Amino acid sequence: MFELKDKIALVTGAGSGMGRTHALALASQGTKVAVTGIDESKCIPVVEEIKTKGGEAICLKLDVSDKASVDAAFDETIKQFGRLDILVNNAGIYVPKPALELTEEEWDRTIDINLKGQFFCAQRAAKEMMKNKWGRIINISSIASGQIGIGMAEGAHYTASKGGIIGMTETLAIEWAPFGINVNVIGPGAIDTPMVQAAQIPKEAMSALLAGIPLKRIGRPEEVSAMVVFLASEEASYITGATFYVDGGWLAS
Ligand code: NAD
Repeated sequence: MFELKDKIALVTGAGSGMGRTHALALASQGTKVAVTGIDESKCIPVVEEIKTKGGEAICLKLDVSDKASVDAAFDETIKQFGRLDILVNNAGIYVPKPALELTEEEWDRTIDINLKGQFFCAQRAAKEMMKNKWGRIINISSIASGQIGIGMAEGAHYTASKGGIIGMTETLAIEWAPFGINVNVIGPGAIDTPMVQAAQIPKEAMSALLAGIPLKRIGRPEEVSAMVVFLASEEASYITGATFYVDGGWLAS
């Protein structure tokens, strides 16, 4: 089950946190991975780790907010690996700011990276995947995405971008189903990555957060990567347009 031998994947924001573990997890199932990031130097150790474990990977610079950079990285992936089967739209930023203080520039930067970036990576990926009538696009949203998810103080720009990903995914799933491309969302809860570490959540606030999570701990990046591997696999063939929360039961409580 979940063998992904000789599939070709591109992971964005793969130099740290969950992007890194998504790349490693896919590679461990036999997938060749384009490990991409805005800072190439962070991707090199990930590629080396994959190669040490016997996998195949390349490192590419990719700023998801810049369409020319998106096109260049996808072109290079196709040049080196011949096609594309799997896209993990993982890159994202979270810069907390009270809504009353948010500037136009801060709003635009978050939307450009978290939402526009995912769209143009997905569009470019779909143009490749439709040639082979097989594709998996996995968009990383968040529990902080409104509706079934939650709102988050100081995250109006972030929750807007993450909620937008869910609506966008449902639409892309409908449009691209005839081409054999499945598009789904993963909404992680609180996961132990540089993003959460940078937020420097005070001890009391962290205790309160954990109290609301049935599993009483924050998640490990690998626990989200397991869902990535499943959604990327052939076994997920009848799943598209869906959102899966990996949150330790947070939304259930
Ligand atoms: P992270 O900060 O380690 O990862 C984000 C990555 O995106 C970094 O490698 C960063 O360099 C990259 N990035 C930033 N701007 C970029 C750009 N313009 N182009 C390309 N790459 C860029 O944190 P993480 O927690 O691993 O985040 C991964 C994803 O998971 C993000 O989309 C984040 O919003 C989402 N998420 C995280 C949590 C959590 O609790 N950690 C919860 C829900 C959702």
